[in-house]
Formats: sequence, C-alpha cells, structure tokens
Amino acid sequence: MKKIAIMLLFTFIFGCKPAQRENSKTITITSEEIKETVSYLASDDLKGRNTGSEGIDAAATYIEKQFKDLGVKPYFETYRDHFQFTNTRPKDVSEMNKEVKAFNVVGFLEGSDPVLKNEIIILGAHYDHIGEGKAVEGDLIANGANDNAAGTSAVLALAKYFSAKKNNKRSIMFVLFSAEEKGLLGSKHLSSLLREKGNFDLYTMVNFEMIGVPMKDKEYTVYLSGYELSNMAEKINEYTKTKLVGLLPKAKAFNLFKRSDNYPFHNAFSVACQTISTFDFTNYDYYHHVDDEAEHMDFNFMANVINKIIPAIETMANTPEKEIYMYGE
Ligand SMILES: [Zn+2]
Repeated sequence: MKKIAIMLLFTFIFGCKPAQRENSKTITITSEEIKETVSYLASDDLKGRNTGSEGIDAAATYIEKQFKDLGVKPYFETYRDHFQFTNTRPKDVSEMNKEVKAFNVVGFLEGSDPVLKNEIIILGAHYDHIGEGKAVEGDLIANGANDNAAGTSAVLALAKYFSAKKNNKRSIMFVLFSAEEKGLLGSKHLSSLLREKGNFDLYTMVNFEMIGVPMKDKEYTVYLSGYELSNMAEKINEYTKTKLVGLLPKAKAFNLFKRSDNYPFHNAFSVACQTISTFDFTNYDYYHHVDDEAEHMDFNFMANVINKIIPAIETMANTPEKEIYMYGE
C-alpha cells in the first residue's frame, strides 16, 4: 500500500506535464534559419503572397508546419483564423467587388503559471504582401522580403525559442496576419474577435515590420512605433540592458503607430501594442518594389535583432506584475 502511494507520488511529481519543465540550454537564433524562412516566403514560387492567392496559401501552410513541428498549438480549432472581405481595390477590374477569402495564422503557447497564463502577450507580423508590383525588366513579382517575410521570420524564430525554452509564465500568442496590405484587415478581424470574447486579457503586443536592413548612424538598433505613447521602449531597453530601441522622428511624423497591425489591437484593448521596425525611409530602396528580394536582406543583422529582443519578451512573459503600459491611460 505504502509502495503504491510512493509510486503514485513519483508519478505525480515526475509524470506531471514534463513538457512544461524549463529547458536550461542556451538557444540562439542563427542567420541561416532566418535566411531559410525569408528565402522561401519571398521566393518567386509564392508570387508575392497576395491575400486570396495560391501563394499566400502556400505561405500559411509553411507557417502551420513550423508551428506544428515546434509543438506550438493552434489557438482556434485549426491554425487558420478565417475572415473575408470585399475587394474594392483590385489590380484587375474583373475582380472588383468580389469576396476574398483570407486567414491569419495563429499559434498559442500556454504559460506555465496557473494565474499568469491568463495574461496574453501577442507577437505578430503580417505575412501577406501585394502580389505584383510595377514591372522591371519583365519581373512583376513583388517578393516582399523585407515587407514582411522579415517580420514573419522573427515571429517564427521567437516561436521556436519559446517552444523549446518553455520558460514563459504568461501565455504567448504568435500571429501572422493576412490582408495587412489591404488596410490592416487581418488584425482588425482578430482583435475584434478576441475583444468579443470578453475575457481575453491582452497584456501587450509586439509587432514586427521590415527588420531586414540596419539603419545608419543611429544610437539604437530598432525603432518602436508610438515610442512616446508608452513605457514599452524604456522597458525593452531595461530588460535587455542595451539601447536596443529608440525613437525615429519620421515614425512619429508619419504616425506609423496607426499604420500597422498593432493599432487595431491597441484600439480594441487600450493596452500597449506597438511595432518594431528598422525601415527608416532612407535605408531601403525597394519598398513595394519587385526588387524587395531576399538577397537584399542582412540575415546576420536580423538574427542579432531577434536574439537581442528575446530577453525583453522573456521578461515580459515572467514579471510578477504587468509593467508595460500606455501613458495617460
Ligand atoms: Zn508591411
């Protein structure tokens, strides 16, 4: 009897969710793996990942496979969060007012703390692009390497890191948005869907856009949209013990805070939802251009940015209290 009790105790202690146990190994994201992701997503095969196209379907399938292999679970019944919209800005007139079927890809890594796991951090990036651009020497495909296979590769790398590390007390949702290029439609859809649930406790969101090329002559490595609206930049720098994040005056002048997928989430939840980017309007000539190709990406720089941001996300996922907030709210 006693023996059975001891055995049961052992089973309880050692058999209880071994997958939840933290992994003490150092995990570093390499430039090779970033290159592999970006090169596939930005390849001509995917034809510029226009929302509703076969190319974006292939991109979603690729992302789903990564999630599955990593053990990142779907948040909904499947990884795909479906929505549709009426095409009012088609390239081809015959497509005018047709319904377009679209889907975000959403993965979920539950936190290990019974209470904190109800607080969610979203790491996001849009994985769609514009399909075709203005032809240059017969090339029509707008590959969207920097915009935004780059951000997508960051989210996948972070999914890899946290699914292996298993050290997040809060839950992390990994979201690749569709139809960003059609007017932030994927993020508008998902943010209102989660808001309607009523009990979705969003702590904060970090979104990644165009991080493929370094900025020149800056004291910081990346900028944060809406820098002055919250303490997120200050906290990221504190958590990483570096001057990783800064204020790009042009980001403020052009109000980039409202121009990416972070904004619908800020709108729906009134918490700090912001975008990290390194596109400063002077360091990349191929914005929405057919030459936005993988060969122009600086993969060492990207891996470095991702490795540097990891301790910040890690701290966000583990502080006893929420520490990041909007000023004046
Ligand atoms: Zn973009």
